[in-house]
Amino acid sequence: MTDRTLYLASIAHCLEDPGRAAGALELIADGAVLVENGRIVEVGPLSRFSGIESAEVLDYSGLLLIPGLIDCHVHYPQLDIIGSFGEELLDWLERYAYPAELRLADEVYARELADLFVDELIANGTTSALVFATVHAHSADVLFEAALDRDLRLISGKVLMDRGAPEALLDTPARGYAESRALIERWHGRGRLGYAITPRYALTSSEAQLESAGRLAREYPDVWLHTHLAENRREIDAVAEAFPDSPSYLAVYERFGLLRERSVFAHCLHLDERDCKSMARRGAAAAFCPTSNLFLGSGLFDLGRMRTAGVKTGLATDVGAGTSLSMLRTMGEAYKVLKLGDQVLSPADALYLATLGAARALGIDAEVGNLEAGKEADFVLLDADATRLAGHRVAQTGTLDERLFVLMTLGDDRHVRATVVNGRLFDKQDRHTDSNGA
Ligand SMILES: [Zn+2]
Repeated sequence: MTDRTLYLASIAHCLEDPGRAAGALELIADGAVLVENGRIVEVGPLSRFSGIESAEVLDYSGLLLIPGLIDCHVHYPQLDIIGSFGEELLDWLERYAYPAELRLADEVYARELADLFVDELIANGTTSALVFATVHAHSADVLFEAALDRDLRLISGKVLMDRGAPEALLDTPARGYAESRALIERWHGRGRLGYAITPRYALTSSEAQLESAGRLAREYPDVWLHTHLAENRREIDAVAEAFPDSPSYLAVYERFGLLRERSVFAHCLHLDERDCKSMARRGAAAAFCPTSNLFLGSGLFDLGRMRTAGVKTGLATDVGAGTSLSMLRTMGEAYKVLKLGDQVLSPADALYLATLGAARALGIDAEVGNLEAGKEADFVLLDADATRLAGHRVAQTGTLDERLFVLMTLGDDRHVRATVVNGRLFDKQDRHTDSNGA
């Protein structure tokens, strides 16, 4: 049996960066996407399709189809503490994040949380993510297993942390190195999974551990490097104190060989010009986490500056400091954060940051990020009518990009009717789910 499925819907996706290229956002009112064996074969107006007789037709007319959303920075162990009251970064870590991460010492609990997390990603239309686990090696194993089971494109790694946190959450440079290496051998490149060397941030790793992370990065040039950078003023002062010889926070990572292609730094709120240029020159990326930055009062991301410097940037939820796993909500909050900095984020820009731009930031844009033929079939079907107000508001819009903007302002997981993950359909109304034999 051939596995050819034709999806009918309105379509919005980015062919390029809308900030740099006119016509980057492709909008197709009566569109269709043809999927075969997990890959996109063709996309365009339905009227131009031919030779689709053998395909199963799934009619989502009236819904908006966008590429699978990509979350560039999120902590699955922190689902337990999302929406915890009242702290800034360093106290928030002590009071909420570390106690939550301690619970994952229990592998059974870690597995439960990993299952919840990946199911929530799919419910929110997120098909790729770069994810923090905890210091426990099994916390990465159970997450990779859960992602493999649903065929998500997921990158993660065990946290490297040998100081500045509760004793039970610490490893050692030798143990962190050995466990990371074993996890890379076990998971990196398996299905759609990838490994990220994951030092939590400069303050929670000794120089010896940062050195061992750099060694891993040299030994495995195609794995990712995932950490935090310049989120909060107190954090930055503490890093300056801990590394008095370093000219900047970023320079600490650079010194240990952690600034390179496939390095993804969450936040990047308080960087100087020189740091931005270094990131761009080395091909490193920034993860923009608007709900987290607002929630912890950390600061406002400067997208204009990143663009000018040429730093690849993707959008991220940063749950649990972030307040929603919904990338739609995150797009809406990104708009507001940039507005406070006198910048305007168009719906096309927002979509780019959550799809193709994020894919470029993670270096996975050859596989995902838009609906070009040949890419993996990751996409989302959005239904404004899932809530009455959004449905009413969308009925007043004239164009598809207006509709997209309303959905990123009012939308959340309720408006995600279905998510297609590598060609496999997860429809919340079950009408079509698994109809392609997945
Ligand atoms: Zn984070």
